[in-house]
Amino acid sequence: MYPNTQLFIDGEWRDAVAGKTLTVTNPATDAVIGQVAHAGEADLELALAATERGFKLWRETSAHRRAAIMRQAAVLLRERAGDIAKVMTAEQGKPVAQAKAEILGAADVIDWFAGEASRTYGQIIPSRQQDVQQQTLKLPVGPVAAFTPWNFPINQIVRKLSAALAAGCSIIVKGPEETPASPAALIQAFVDAGIPAGVIGLVYGTPAEISEYLIPHPTIRKISFTGSTRVGKHLAALAGQHMKKATMELGGHAPVLIFDDADLDAAAKELAASKFRNAGQVCIAPTRFLIQQGVYEAFVEKFTAEVNKLVVGNGQEDGVTMGPMVLGRSVDAIETFVEDAIAAGAKLTTGGKRLAGNGNFFAPTVLRDVPLNARAMSEEPFGPVALLRPFNDYDEAIAEANRLPYGLAAYAYSRNIATVNALGRDVESGMLTINHIGFGLPETPFGGVKDSGHGTEGGSEAIEAYLETRFVTVAGR
Ligand code: NAD
Repeated sequence: MYPNTQLFIDGEWRDAVAGKTLTVTNPATDAVIGQVAHAGEADLELALAATERGFKLWRETSAHRRAAIMRQAAVLLRERAGDIAKVMTAEQGKPVAQAKAEILGAADVIDWFAGEASRTYGQIIPSRQQDVQQQTLKLPVGPVAAFTPWNFPINQIVRKLSAALAAGCSIIVKGPEETPASPAALIQAFVDAGIPAGVIGLVYGTPAEISEYLIPHPTIRKISFTGSTRVGKHLAALAGQHMKKATMELGGHAPVLIFDDADLDAAAKELAASKFRNAGQVCIAPTRFLIQQGVYEAFVEKFTAEVNKLVVGNGQEDGVTMGPMVLGRSVDAIETFVEDAIAAGAKLTTGGKRLAGNGNFFAPTVLRDVPLNARAMSEEPFGPVALLRPFNDYDEAIAEANRLPYGLAAYAYSRNIATVNALGRDVESGMLTINHIGFGLPETPFGGVKDSGHGTEGGSEAIEAYLETRFVTVAGR
């Protein structure tokens, strides 16, 4: 049932010129389930030539027509969501219901950006002379190179792809080698919807080789990367060196602020679901739980009880709510973080160990009283570990929330209007959700500040990253 994945270049699925492939593994069973083509320089050259042709064609295609093709791709994706979800679970591990939700969410992203295609407004600027008209035009920046990770195989691509297509750009996506088949199914929906050859390319290979080749290449005008801060800084520097526009959606270490007056039941339930979604492999996952002294014990108890309700297992099985981690090395990393935190003085309330048997499983883990010198309090765990510690007052909580160089997402629960109003100004993060979990809708901004990157992948500003502003002034003579 699991398909092998080829490269998509110039409107065709093809093997790599050199015939190289990589194996794909099911993280729930360790079984090799398929192959993905591994692009070399010859494939990238073909993709670059195709994207240049694709761009010339696509930028001349009306926004109305572009949107129509995109909307049809969304229709096909919704129709196929059930089948694609099974493929995604086989390669990525998340429960099938969550995979399906990701795919349906992706269809919404496509629809939303299709609407944006016809809203790339320029301006008329009042002139100092009667016979002069000054205007700005919003034009597609050019062919895009996008690099996306394995945690949300479709969602991470669809935001970049849809914004690029809506703006009139062509795009080469370097997809995640660990989870290649569900992205291929996304691209197939666009192909079946009538996207012209060359407008979309999909390649896999050695990430560093591909980025080092594509980013400096004169054909590529815009870079978008989602992944770790370490790699993001390297790619942003490369983009800067070659004067390419870049959007960087990088790591996070989200603080969660729970005040004495919070609705603790709602907080415990919503945050447990959010923390362990996708086995914690989410850049916006709640991570440092800061809880006001008066409710600390009560929250620890309620939260642990919610976490104990999670059912860990193969995402293909009914009732499973948390699957494996995608990479075997991530389990090792989480184990080290937990051991280090306990050695530093943290106490386990649940979990804390890898699960026996096949697959990359780590038990949902809650650590309380975690000291600030535990490594996990400063390095992104990117796994199923919640770190809890108490605080005394608002200023202490804000100081801790803002201590790290990251600034992607933040969470808070309080019923005090003054606290709630102040948080929006005081927490240094690109996104803040208060008294509910409200991130990730296509129409709302998605992006970070500080070391979490720059640019947004949602909301009305997202398409800007794929446009350039041209100024035209005309004298009526
Ligand atoms: P990593 O830093 O090796 O890789 C992260 C991602 O970047 C992967 O998708 C990888 O293929 C890609 N990548 C690595 N080097 C690259 C290069 N030179 N050019 C282009 N792409 C490159 O980390 P990892 O061990 O694979 O994943 C764990 C870390 O990755 C986490 O700590 C987390 O910070 C980050 N991550 C973030 C997100 C996110 O949504 N922001 C998603 C997945 C991984």
